[in-house]
Amino acid sequence: MKHSLYYKFILGYLAFWLLSFAAISTLSARMMYRHQTEIYAEAMYDEANMIATSYSSVYLGKKQDMDTAYAQLQAVAEFVKAEVWIVNRQGTIVADSAGSARVKTEIEGFDPAGTGNKSYSTGDYYGQFPYDVLSVSAPITGNYNTYGYVLVHVPVSIIWETSNQSLNVIYISAAVIFALSLIILLVFTKTVYFPLKRITEGANEYAAGNLEHHIELNTRDEMGYLAATLNYMSGELDKMEVYQRNFIANVSHDFRSPLTSIKGYLEAIIDGTIPPEMYEKYLTRVIAETERLTKLTQGMLTLNSLDSKGYLSRTSFDINRVIKDTAATFEVTCNARDITFDLTFSEAILMVYADLGKIQQVLYNLIDNAIKFSHHGSTIYIQTYTRNEKIFVSVKDTGIGIPKDSVKKIWERFYKSDQSRGKDKKGTGLGLAIVKEIIQAHGENIDVISTEDVGSEFIFSLPRSAGA
Ligand code: ADP
Repeated sequence: MKHSLYYKFILGYLAFWLLSFAAISTLSARMMYRHQTEIYAEAMYDEANMIATSYSSVYLGKKQDMDTAYAQLQAVAEFVKAEVWIVNRQGTIVADSAGSARVKTEIEGFDPAGTGNKSYSTGDYYGQFPYDVLSVSAPITGNYNTYGYVLVHVPVSIIWETSNQSLNVIYISAAVIFALSLIILLVFTKTVYFPLKRITEGANEYAAGNLEHHIELNTRDEMGYLAATLNYMSGELDKMEVYQRNFIANVSHDFRSPLTSIKGYLEAIIDGTIPPEMYEKYLTRVIAETERLTKLTQGMLTLNSLDSKGYLSRTSFDINRVIKDTAATFEVTCNARDITFDLTFSEAILMVYADLGKIQQVLYNLIDNAIKFSHHGSTIYIQTYTRNEKIFVSVKDTGIGIPKDSVKKIWERFYKSDQSRGKDKKGTGLGLAIVKEIIQAHGENIDVISTEDVGSEFIFSLPRSAGA
């Protein structure tokens, strides 16, 4: 990953610091220099004024010892690392702190007001210096007259030096902040970059089909949450894959056995193994097997339609009525096995809001099972009652019951207990899976209480009709 997020971040980070240092070395340096110039100019002006005041006393007729004046001039010059001149009105240097080096020199084009509004000027001062200086001037006045000027010059290089020293402080501070800001980089690397890398690796594994891959990330932040979500997603996809494989295996198995027996019977008829007088018996078996195949196909289609959401067409109807009608359809089977129904309704009419056709199927499957697994001459109890705004329906038999280790599995598609395989050859193992899907689609629950050799009770809830 050439242009990864990480490198972009580092590049941005370095660019930020490069620009910061560039800004310090240009903008800040200039600002610092200007600031220092002003400080210097102010200090120099104060000194110049001080000297000018002491000189003005000379012109006022007071006695002034020139030696002391020179000493003062030199002391001041030394103190501010400057050169101090006394210039008369015509622009002739009368005294110079650097000794007599420039005394009597005429300053060509001397204009004391040359600095304009500024109290200082920079440059070579009328060609007097081979380098740039900062110059300030203060007039020597007395008796409303200007007698001359005190000029103070400081080489610009000294001001640069001072401002650079202050700039160093900024550089060092910036360097320390730069070092400290590496912490941000470290935190980013640890909390964003590495987790993201692991998540990307995980996503690539999933894309390559390795759904068992687990993204190892247990942080309690957004990254951890994302990793957990992806782990959950891959887990669910993996389960789905396993489920689909099992589903196909089950379907193939359940289709193969009736097909094998159909093929066997028909071949035996054709090759004469089965004599014509036995045809009816075996063809009846063939029909029974095709019926089983039809039932299987029907069950699978029902389950498939239940998988796609938004299929319920709910209406309000009396559940007691539906129970009575469904039980009535089993009359012939019940009479044959001497099984009776015991219906108990807590209220004469119990209105529910559900999909009538689907609930009829639920009742049909439950009653069908209850009869299938009941003993000759027993009773099947069906009850309805209300509790907490819900209506409960219970279908109870006193039949063979369900072994403990099978109870959880009965809801699985194609599950048939070993006993029922022998007893009930027509069962597809889809009945209860369909029942559960329908009840769950209604947002309701179904449960079973069963004891082997005692009996089973299936209880499910339904929403009470709002108008009832
Ligand atoms: P089938 O079509 O084979 O009945 P179901 O999904 O309806 O499939 O039931 C699955 C299994 O649950 C049955 O094979 C049986 O072992 C068990 N079972 C369901 N209902 C009962 C019951 N009332 N009594 C005992 N066992 C039951």
